[in-house]
Amino acid sequence: MKQRWAGPDIRPATPHKILLGEETMANIAFIGLGNMGGPMAANLLAAGHQLCGYDLSEEALAKLKEQGGTAAVSVAEAVKDADVVVTMLPAGKHVRTVYSGEHGILSTVKSGATLIDSSTIDVESARVVAEAAAKAGMKMVDAPVSGGVGGATAGTLTFMVGGPDEAFEAAKPFLDIMGKTIIHAGGAGNGQAAKICNNMMLGIQMISVCEAFALAEKLGLDHQKLYDISSTASGQCWSLTSYCPVPGPVETSPANRDYQPGFAAAMMLKDLKLAQDASDAVAANTPLGAQASALYNAFCEEGNDGVDFSGIIKMLRG
Ligand code: NAD
Repeated sequence: MKQRWAGPDIRPATPHKILLGEETMANIAFIGLGNMGGPMAANLLAAGHQLCGYDLSEEALAKLKEQGGTAAVSVAEAVKDADVVVTMLPAGKHVRTVYSGEHGILSTVKSGATLIDSSTIDVESARVVAEAAAKAGMKMVDAPVSGGVGGATAGTLTFMVGGPDEAFEAAKPFLDIMGKTIIHAGGAGNGQAAKICNNMMLGIQMISVCEAFALAEKLGLDHQKLYDISSTASGQCWSLTSYCPVPGPVETSPANRDYQPGFAAAMMLKDLKLAQDASDAVAANTPLGAQASALYNAFCEEGNDGVDFSGIIKMLRG
């Protein structure tokens, strides 16, 4: 049986943020230093690793230098000495180009390197790139995240990881620095599959909670009363108890700050579309996922791309 530590708790609040000794320091290349990639790279630097980054944006590169990283002028230059490469890019087409394009990662990184793609992309692109990486002798995982910019900054992201065991083991120490919960979801592409299945649930649940509050308003039922009842009854879900779409019941909800994100509607729409593409590709039956995608599409088309996804209640009120 494991012995419990009975003395005072002297462990740091975030044990994985301890500075590493010389012997465990890795050369990391980080491609895509945007809203998410920037703070993730900063956490790898803070843990004592060497990090060389590349991004199309000069501003992102300047920020990396301020944080103690080195800025490269190309993907090839960033990855040439790397033991580990992390990518955090907008979509599948960017990931395919950065990995498999001319002077891309797979033709320029040293053999045996560990490759971590944390972008949220389509399952098919993730599997195509993973196969090419394996053929080139690399250990690759798809490792999309949830937790948003706040989680990226705090180093508390959840990573959903797809790839062979050996690649997962090689990537895990670095994921531990950037995240709090790291789950191996199976083979290549399964991290992306987990991410889109989860976010399809979230989109559907948010719409269901919004519809219930909009109906309650018309029936003369007070927001707080519905919250008190449903949060302890069978309607309970994260969209209600952690992210309530009406002001009042949950203090931290974007509803209390005029639906500033949070998680922007455009991001939710991106993930719902990825879920529908995947669903079509394997002939799965996801009618509510399709409806959620259509509703978020309509919400975004009304100019609400940058509004928090819980703001869809405004549209659902009619
Ligand atoms: P972002 O647009 O802020 O950052 C993407 C960065 O990639 C940009 O700085 C861009 O210049 C760079 N880039 C694009 N093409 C490139 C190329 N060919 N070479 C080098 N750099 C290139 O996006 P983000 O919010 O950081 O999101 C990144 C990924 O994380 C997306 O797939 C997104 O869906 C996912 N994600 C985002 C959030 C969030 O809350 N922002 C949460 C979970 C997952």
